[in-house]
Amino acid sequence: MADLYSIEDRHTSGVYYKRDITIVRGKGALVWDQNGREYIDCVAGHGVANLGHCHPAVVDAIRKQATNLITCPEIFYNDQRATLLERLSKLGPGDMQRSFLCNSGTEAIEAAIKFARISTKRPEIISALRSFHGRTMGALTLTGQKKYSAPFAPLLPGVIQIPYNNIEALRNAVNQDTAAVILEIIQGEGGVRPANPEFLQAAQGLCNEKGVLFIIDEVQTGLGRTGKMFACDHYNIEPDMLCLAKSLGGGIPMGATLIGSRVKNLEPGTHGSTFGGNPLACAASLAVLEVLEHENIPERAARHGKQIMKSVGESSLPNVREIRGLGLMIGIELKHKVTPVLKELQQSGILALPAGNTVLRLLPPLVIEQDHVERVIDTVIKVLSSITKSS
Ligand SMILES: *Cc1c(COP(=O)(O)O)cnc(C)c1O
Repeated sequence: MADLYSIEDRHTSGVYYKRDITIVRGKGALVWDQNGREYIDCVAGHGVANLGHCHPAVVDAIRKQATNLITCPEIFYNDQRATLLERLSKLGPGDMQRSFLCNSGTEAIEAAIKFARISTKRPEIISALRSFHGRTMGALTLTGQKKYSAPFAPLLPGVIQIPYNNIEALRNAVNQDTAAVILEIIQGEGGVRPANPEFLQAAQGLCNEKGVLFIIDEVQTGLGRTGKMFACDHYNIEPDMLCLAKSLGGGIPMGATLIGSRVKNLEPGTHGSTFGGNPLACAASLAVLEVLEHENIPERAARHGKQIMKSVGESSLPNVREIRGLGLMIGIELKHKVTPVLKELQQSGILALPAGNTVLRLLPPLVIEQDHVERVIDTVIKVLSSITKSS
């Protein structure tokens, strides 16, 4: 293990904060390190493992497809892709008949930026402060957090950022050059901050009125995480483009930009991706959607999420400022730094995430079992109260 650490540390790019644990196996909401120690995984690959690790239906689909056909560019037709595209067309909030398939969240955002510009022939895109939309230059420019983007200036021209949940600021920013407005329904990396329903409604109304495309980034909130298939569904929002990735492929890299009828001019040659829509990722995604819909996974997320938020809330911990979230996307804002809490949780067998410096973020697999939910609650309360005493 010490060996493995030093090999990775010596030869990796160096761009990640590392934790001292080597994960070698996973099943459901659990992962194991190389010594066989068990952890409840409330990181879930940053919200990738909505169906948990190695879900049998996903494993089965990957195994089968791997022996049939792994790669096939979109210049040819393919059975798995056709089936997935049709399925996605029935899934989206509102009428989204088409999808662009890619391999990650940031690519789903890049596609939306390009489609917005080519469709409206306007240059500007409005995004929100504290947002996170990805790390490639276009998505990074939209991302409203200087710590990610400032070192990489100059960024994309034509991006305007407004305070989240501020209708007035949005109204003032929209003009005849605005191609699109892009928002998260709950800002994930920005601290698990839900949008006000009035803000979303106003944004939708404004976009419709001004011929501006409304793009919703559900890379983290999508596919059951918040207790409904899409976070949009809580607010009756019908975007013109919906960006998905993270859990879509059940762990296989997969992203999608769902496209509504107001998006025009997507002619052959305007965009593309070598791996986009490959049969292996499509087969995995089909298995994911099948399980999500037929096993009522979003409803489970809603129920478990409520229980965690209620139990932690009712324990009135003096170092907790606020608990926010929806379904199994939970942020516990602390009155101090989150790092020692993450370390202590890991010692106690729970892997969790930060969202900024002071927010503890829990993104467990939606298939988490009831007794594991209880273990998460007990451990979080225990760790938060012990840190209160010691600080
Ligand atoms: C993770 C995330 C992205 C970026 O996804 P990658 O697959 O890491 O490129 C974009 N938007 C949101 C809301 C995310 O949570």
